Amino acid sequence: MLNRNPCISNIKAGYLFPEIAKRRRSYAAAHPDAKIISLGVGNTTEPILPHIDKGLVDGARGLATVEGYVGYSDEGFEELRKRIAEVFYKGNFGIDEIFISDGAKCDIGRLQLLFGAGTKVAVQDPSYPVYVDGSVLIGATGPWEGSGYQGITYLPCTAENDYFPDVEKLPENGIFYFCSPNNPTGAVANREQLTSLVAAARKKGTVIIFDAAYSEYIRDPALPKSIFEIDGSQTCAIEVNSFSKPAGFTGVRLGWTVVPKELKYAGGESVNADWNRICGTIFNGASNIAQWGALAALDSEGLKEIRQLSDFYLGNAKLIRSALQNLDISCIGGDNSPYIWAQFPGRDSWDVFAEILEKCQVVTTPGEGFGPAGQSFIRFSAFGHRADVEEACKRLGRLRFV
Ligand code: PLP
Repeated sequence: MLNRNPCISNIKAGYLFPEIAKRRRSYAAAHPDAKIISLGVGNTTEPILPHIDKGLVDGARGLATVEGYVGYSDEGFEELRKRIAEVFYKGNFGIDEIFISDGAKCDIGRLQLLFGAGTKVAVQDPSYPVYVDGSVLIGATGPWEGSGYQGITYLPCTAENDYFPDVEKLPENGIFYFCSPNNPTGAVANREQLTSLVAAARKKGTVIIFDAAYSEYIRDPALPKSIFEIDGSQTCAIEVNSFSKPAGFTGVRLGWTVVPKELKYAGGESVNADWNRICGTIFNGASNIAQWGALAALDSEGLKEIRQLSDFYLGNAKLIRSALQNLDISCIGGDNSPYIWAQFPGRDSWDVFAEILEKCQVVTTPGEGFGPAGQSFIRFSAFGHRADVEEACKRLGRLRFV
């Protein structure tokens, strides 16, 4: 028989959500009358709004007509790429620098094909698990000097450093995954911080993979929504983004990646040309129906709906944050992001998870699952129906008597 790909057996981090589900099931089995509420996952819950829905439906209907039928769309509809360039990047990118995908996570997984096995990787600690797992899968891991778990360098982002890493520790000629607004912490990097990140990346030859999946949750106009708002970033960054969280497309599936033409490998070859090649070789383009929905999402009515939907989840976030603050639990996030990162000093995050489940019948996410720096934190997600969030917030009051 064939040997297993050793990279697969090296993946350790993927246990988090299955473990949470297992613990929830066993609590439910022991307490059959409990109405468990989840503030644990990043999955959207609210219906797609009418104008965007119409874009999806009309597109799908059109497929049954000669005039409306479209087959493969390769890097994505030109009209959609043009619209993304206008809405998100002030027209600063050509359509051949914007690649439509079936979601940010899928592109995060594929991007490392550009750099291959043995590439040095650093992540924020804590971080969205696919940065680590995707790196391990392709064998793009150390151990390198200064690297930790699975050969990946973890750059702590904690209250002590304003949840922003020490950019002097970026891997030389390696990759650094950076997510803002951040999952799980909800922290958003400001302009000075991103300027220092870009300067350090240029100095060290690091490529920043900037995950902007929550950029539409930013309400503070001073905070950058894209790494490409920072001068010089086009020579050192790739940006991934998604319609999942702003438009409710978690199940519809649509995202995009910007690979600037100015980004070059050490030998001067074009990263953009290689990404085009990779997409054409192993990815045949995103769903046309999803792209028609995205076109509707990016016209003036659709942008209002994006605002409305993200406002709704931010409203949930505000409720959760104030419920926690009423208990004197220190937390960040929730104002420009749908996640709240709550600190329980000196506690183990799985113990706190168990206590919240036991006392409040509320499922959360233990911070430890996102990296060692999450050890005494809990992530609360604002993705939920309003009535459930209100009920969960009421129940969190039971933690007062801890
Ligand atoms: N990036 C971050 C930081 C996320 O939290 C998520 C989903 O939770 C994704 C990307 C995935 O996006 P998509 O649904 O487009 O694959």
